[in-house]
Amino acid sequence: MKRVYLRVTATSSLAIRSDHAEGGVKTTQYIPGATLLGSLAASHRMLRPEQEDEFVKLFLNEQVHFPHLYPAGFNEGSLRTSDLPGSNLPVMPIPKTARTCKRFPGFQLVPGEEAEEERHGVRDSLLDWAIFSLLDNEQSAIAPLLSPFSSHDTCTYQQGKDSDVRCNQVMDHVGGFYRESNHQRMKAKADTRLQTRTGINREWGVVEESILYNRQVFDENTCFRGDVLLPDELTDTFKNFVEEATKEDVIRVGTGRTRGLGCVQLDVRDAQESKAADFADRLCTFDAAMRKQAQEAGVRQLDPFYFAITLQSPTILCDAFLRYQKTIDLASLPELSGLCASYTFQRVYQSVGIQRITGWNELWGMPRPNDYALEMGSTLLFACKQQPQNNDLIQALRTLEEMGIGRRRSEGFGRISISDPFHLEREQA
Ligand SMILES: [Zn+2]
Repeated sequence: MKRVYLRVTATSSLAIRSDHAEGGVKTTQYIPGATLLGSLAASHRMLRPEQEDEFVKLFLNEQVHFPHLYPAGFNEGSLRTSDLPGSNLPVMPIPKTARTCKRFPGFQLVPGEEAEEERHGVRDSLLDWAIFSLLDNEQSAIAPLLSPFSSHDTCTYQQGKDSDVRCNQVMDHVGGFYRESNHQRMKAKADTRLQTRTGINREWGVVEESILYNRQVFDENTCFRGDVLLPDELTDTFKNFVEEATKEDVIRVGTGRTRGLGCVQLDVRDAQESKAADFADRLCTFDAAMRKQAQEAGVRQLDPFYFAITLQSPTILCDAFLRYQKTIDLASLPELSGLCASYTFQRVYQSVGIQRITGWNELWGMPRPNDYALEMGSTLLFACKQQPQNNDLIQALRTLEEMGIGRRRSEGFGRISISDPFHLEREQA
């Protein structure tokens, strides 16, 4: 499989409705993979109606995995581009375990960045919760049990470099999307606004009395980004098609397309290849950090290996009877079931939400059946009861991360990250 990234720039306002309920005008915060797939499929029908084989390969065989496109606009006005060589860096949802100051929320300013308000940084609470869970299993006393959370009650940001005065405001959860470069994270901006329109009288062609509606839209020039996964032999075909469709300006995304909404320009480039050694390093670093903190907190019994799974997109998991799953059961994943003879896994902690997935099938012109998914940003921590031998577990986890898990992966569902470094940095710059 090859990985290319798409950068999508809106050249008109963009309306992505999050449901098809009567009067539902709320916009989702990103462009779903199914919407992207449908838009490109419609463009293909227009540009190359005779090339049915190509159409089948790109859009029907589920060989090409289209991404959810996340907002990729950042507060870069005040930065020189050399400071953050980031326009091609991945954008990811902020994990559910992230916490920030309620009064001054957000990642701390990166050097050179100017903002209207101060921001007190983001802390991650995954390891603290994991340690709480481990201590709880050992039936520790209440005081040591709760000690990991002291830094999550109130903001520890220090006003000024030398002073000891702390902010001490309440901490809150933080949502949205972020990008990381050199351990500096920035939150993506997705500016939406309400567009108000009047109804038109069909007989007279003038404004109809008492019909006034509004819709929430993304502003013009909003950027989005996502990685497409596709077989090597389809890469050139896909790139050529996207380039042609962008040149001909036929790609329309979202609703209100007959009213001038949804014009986009796509830029397709090769994404950076991930290296096996980097992946193994990341897992070891996470495991070591988890182990160190647990020992310091007084956990007596530690398992040989720990890793975390963070959902980069909503993930639809079903069991053999097609019942929706509310958590990740590693033994039921086909990629790992081969290893379950030699390894046993235990879920130490999870922070998981469930959401309903609705949508419209552009190809069929029909609503899609509803699905239930684990929300993006959900985070789970697992312990492995055996020391991983000769790399087989690491290799299997890497395959999971590369290929994703669960159903409807061709529509951007089921992207995951394993032992994400986000969870290790307690005070995030
Ligand atoms: Zn604060």
